[in-house]
Amino acid sequence: MASSNEEKICVIHIVDTAGSEKIKLFDDEKLMKCRNAQLVYRFRTNSKFSGVKIPESPNDIYGYHSSCYIKFTAVSGKQIKLAHENKVKLEILLHASQRTKKEGKN
Ligand SMILES: [Zn+2]
Repeated sequence: MASSNEEKICVIHIVDTAGSEKIKLFDDEKLMKCRNAQLVYRFRTNSKFSGVKIPESPNDIYGYHSSCYIKFTAVSGKQIKLAHENKVKLEILLHASQRTKKEGKN
């Protein structure tokens, strides 16, 4: 029961011409890199890449084309660091507002 290329899906797919390439499956390292890139694009609302959904963990269906992967992960370490900082700030704000709501009820 070997799975063929047709059963796999490129979750990034931002390079139209990559369709003829073999779809590769994520390993932990590649997945982490894509999730970091996804975080960067999350804070760029006008980016055409911001709609890309990267899976939580590696699996047998969701993979990537090398061309799509290279283009998607072309973000600098500085941008990733900034995105992580923004994410933390957002989470702090969210927690703070949740706390305020709870206290308001009491
Ligand atoms: Zn693709």
